[in-house]
Amino acid sequence: MIARIQPLTTTRKVSGPFDYAIGDEPVAVGSIVSIPFGRQRLSGVVVELAFSTDVPAEKLMKIGSVRPETIPGELVELALWMAGEYCSTSARALSLVLPPPGKPRTVLWARRVEPAADAPPPRMTERQRELLKRLPGPAGPDLPALRRLESRGLVELVSREQRRSAPAPPGTARSRIDPTHAQDKAVAGLISGTEREWLLHGVTGSGKTEVYLRAAAAALARGRGVMVLVPEIALTPQTVSRFQARFGDTVALLHSGLSEGERYDEWRRLRSGEARVVVGPRSAVFAPVADLGLVVIDEEHDSSFKHEGDPRYDARLVASRRAEFTGATVVVGSATPRPESWHALPRIVLPDRVDGQPLPTVKVLDMRAARHQLHPETRQALSESRKSILLLNRRGWSNFLSCRSCGHAWECPNCDVALVLHRQANLISCHHCGHREPVPRRCEQCGSLTVGRHGAGTERLEAELSETLDVPVFRLDADTAAAKDAVTDVLGAFAAAHAGVLLGTQIVAKGHDFPDVSLGVVLDADSTLRFPDFRAEERTFALITQLAGRAGRGRAGGRVLVQTSSPDASSIAFAARHDARGFLAEELERRRALRYPPFSDLIRIVCSAPDARAVRAAAADVAERLRVADADLLGPAPLFRLRSRERMQLVLKARRRAEAVACVGSAVEAAARDRAHSMVSFSVDVDPQ
Ligand code: ADP
Ligand code: ZN
Ligand code: ZN
Repeated sequence: MIARIQPLTTTRKVSGPFDYAIGDEPVAVGSIVSIPFGRQRLSGVVVELAFSTDVPAEKLMKIGSVRPETIPGELVELALWMAGEYCSTSARALSLVLPPPGKPRTVLWARRVEPAADAPPPRMTERQRELLKRLPGPAGPDLPALRRLESRGLVELVSREQRRSAPAPPGTARSRIDPTHAQDKAVAGLISGTEREWLLHGVTGSGKTEVYLRAAAAALARGRGVMVLVPEIALTPQTVSRFQARFGDTVALLHSGLSEGERYDEWRRLRSGEARVVVGPRSAVFAPVADLGLVVIDEEHDSSFKHEGDPRYDARLVASRRAEFTGATVVVGSATPRPESWHALPRIVLPDRVDGQPLPTVKVLDMRAARHQLHPETRQALSESRKSILLLNRRGWSNFLSCRSCGHAWECPNCDVALVLHRQANLISCHHCGHREPVPRRCEQCGSLTVGRHGAGTERLEAELSETLDVPVFRLDADTAAAKDAVTDVLGAFAAAHAGVLLGTQIVAKGHDFPDVSLGVVLDADSTLRFPDFRAEERTFALITQLAGRAGRGRAGGRVLVQTSSPDASSIAFAARHDARGFLAEELERRRALRYPPFSDLIRIVCSAPDARAVRAAAADVAERLRVADADLLGPAPLFRLRSRERMQLVLKARRRAEAVACVGSAVEAAARDRAHSMVSFSVDVDPQ
């Protein structure tokens, strides 16, 4: 028997897998091994066992050490599929399903040895007697004393594994929530097994989590595992805590806030079957849940399910594929489903809020003639509302500086974008590459002292509101959320406050459940609409609807104000009427006409290099090699310079996905191998966001 092993190397030049002789330790598909490779030693994953090889016996190298943890075979298969689906490499895809590095933590554990019945009682000091009373338990600082008792045969010391991850808070095994009729019907549908994949479309506050919990309980009762994917743990603490409260330590949490040791322990708890439910963000799609029976994707519209590194996988598609392997049911839930899901999936609907409250009224405020950033009605409403949430999708103080005398604009030296002023940090910075420089006092072109600041961001609005309102203002954006636990802290402070304004970027519209917020405001609602992207309408609709979902969850009722200079935009009008059905129908028609997803698959190729000519040549070469039937090629078109690299993009709108992916893969590979393009990097994004 020989093992086919995929070496884990980031270079695209090595393909694999390669054949190796099995050494002294047994291996299986999913074993992680050390192998000699050329002149180096690499880690590799066994992807197949075979009986024969073309390699002459004397040339066959032998596997070295074998890691005790193994990847489930199902995840090896998933990774290899992912490598092809996203034009990546097997090694890069496999590295996503590896167990976290680490070892179990062991502690010395002491227990009493019962003396023989006829033995005389041993002589002990008072302290030793006390010590024996607290056993069994970890040895800890009493180890020297325990060692002395061990030598007298009174105590036994054994090494034992100890979990580093925090155990779940004690759970209430049974739920005290009586499901509504709609929830009951939804659960019955999900567990009926009539469909493999469902869309749960429930308005905000309709009790989707309770449906997930009951479907999960049903899967567990059948002895199957459950996976729950959420946008971000810090933003969805309620979902996590509800799962823990219901299922206790059967729940493993996997997220970036864990230490390496904690992550390792949670992974092992799942791998061993001790934990049967995983809750986590997109990377939890690779958790080693055994015999997966249910996959939940909460807030399925959220863009965080797409990974931006290579392979650029979409956890929603990967989860669906994984569920197919094990015959699991998938449910994706949202108040603002993606047109793709609406089009493709059978629906279960939760039409009303559980508390019977109506959805908040939404009023569109026309800003075309506005002289100030806040509409007078917004000012009035803010002063009347005890708790409000305000969304402005622009951070910093002003997003553009220019000289009032000569018109010079401050731009990033590495990227073709304007630098944003951050007053508190006292610098201007690039939101793309992180470049920063001191705030200019005078124009570097003409020396003038009049530097104009344009476009107010969250930082400036915070300052203004703090001055004019007599309630505390809490700001939540990438600047204030950078520190560890900052998101949780800000949200906690806002929840605990008697009155206040939560102000921030998109983060403030996500999943939070504050019962006493009665006002939601979207400023500059067209900022997302202006985005040159076919998803602009979808995003705008989702942002307004989700923010509206945060308002009016309690007795007080709620209302939402949307400030815009495109008051007639249909995505805004549909959101104002809470008409997801109408919006999606219109949006799907538009996409059908323009041949956008779900009526085609998009594949995006970006070529980049320091030199513009090299990039143009490479992009033209790729375009030349792309011969895909039944597909439109858009571009090559220039993108703005980023991190000192010139960029060109090609977008393929394909009808036959598999064929198109394969063709793009080989075209890019051929171009990348061409010496003429040695300075150019290529990246491929299947289903770009
Ligand atoms: P969604 O995710 O659909 O916006 P949630 O699942 O967050 O809604 O539920 C909103 C609130 O309603 C939560 O506080 C939840 O505990 C509560 N809830 C859910 N189902 C019921 C029910 N059947 N009866 C009473 N309260 C419920
Ligand atoms: Zn100037
Ligand atoms: Zn930059």
